[in-house]
Amino acid sequence: MNILLVVPDFPFARKSKNHHEFIPIGLLKLASYYRSEVSGIDQIKLVRGEVNNIDFTPDLILVTSLFTYWSEYVAKSTHYYRGVFPNSEIIVGGIYASLMPDHCKQNTNCDEVFTGLHPEAEKFPPEYDLMFEENDPPMQIIHASRGCFRRCAFCGTWKIEKKPSDKKSILSEIRSNKLIFYDNNFLQNSNIESILDELKEATWKNRKITCESQSGFDGRLITTHLARSLKEARFINPRIAWDGEYSEHKDIENQIRILTEAGYKNEDIYVFMIYNWSQTFTDTEKKRQKCWELKVQIADCRYRPLNQTFDYYNAKLKQTNDDYYIHPNWTDGEIKQFRKNVRRQNICVRHGFSYYSRDLEHKLINNHIKQLTEDAWYPDEVTSLIDIR
Ligand code: SF4
Repeated sequence: MNILLVVPDFPFARKSKNHHEFIPIGLLKLASYYRSEVSGIDQIKLVRGEVNNIDFTPDLILVTSLFTYWSEYVAKSTHYYRGVFPNSEIIVGGIYASLMPDHCKQNTNCDEVFTGLHPEAEKFPPEYDLMFEENDPPMQIIHASRGCFRRCAFCGTWKIEKKPSDKKSILSEIRSNKLIFYDNNFLQNSNIESILDELKEATWKNRKITCESQSGFDGRLITTHLARSLKEARFINPRIAWDGEYSEHKDIENQIRILTEAGYKNEDIYVFMIYNWSQTFTDTEKKRQKCWELKVQIADCRYRPLNQTFDYYNAKLKQTNDDYYIHPNWTDGEIKQFRKNVRRQNICVRHGFSYYSRDLEHKLINNHIKQLTEDAWYPDEVTSLIDIR
């Protein structure tokens, strides 16, 4: 039996730190499961996008999916391989498949849509040798838990991973010096103390490891003790979420204080901030300015509904709901202005600047001259909308 694993050619941002080489963890675990549990497996190959040099005829083609608004990339890959291998069975799984199975079936013309986690494959380690020579990944995606006990309206986690589960230990799974935890709510793990204790001492190839939580930490669960343990376990760039109203700012300030007292620098802390959401541009700007006051960075998350099947957002164009989702409380101009403000503010926070200047950023002016420039933008000022050009 031959199996082809397909990652559609998703448009990851070039600068995306942990996504520049997207690791399809679900497909790699399935490869491991098939190799171990199913007899008669001859070849398994992983490809990205539509490739034409596959030197075998697959019996089974497994296609992964991500966000619903990237559904067209899944359809493109599936239709391509249907054309090349008309007799192969094609199964699509992943986030889009799980959230919109009927749409996925129709859109991709696959044989089967697989929803949720594969309970058997979940027990197997990812087959990194399909991606990296000598089975040695530059970073390892790992889960210490699944699911989340909260029910945020904009989040699909609790709809896909319906039953939260916690691991007691992840020590035996470590295969890299850089661990990226993909837990949706890392701190909710009932064994969090012992997991952090083992990470403090963990090594790979006789070197200590560093850790990062891709989804950030549930700030409401952070305690002084946990923050210290995160620091001692070498977690970098801690992120907390501020999805609610501006009135929650005291709680956010407290969470940041706990992290800084544990040894994190303000500029290394990120606050996840949803926008294009129920809070208006003006209210979200107040939250941005509070982050400026606290000198922490913002990880901005543009809201898209969980059944949005396209996204042609372009920061340089004037656009409408036909191009991408615009919340009734927001306008296209406000969305782009907020994104621009966050980007500029983060530059100021990272470099300790008191104002942003495009000229300075592009080094048109000697960086040592900190005089007022004509295009100076101050993060603590309320921004009026600027035309998107
Ligand atoms: S806390 Fe995070 S993972 Fe949990 S439901 Fe809310 S957004 Fe989703």
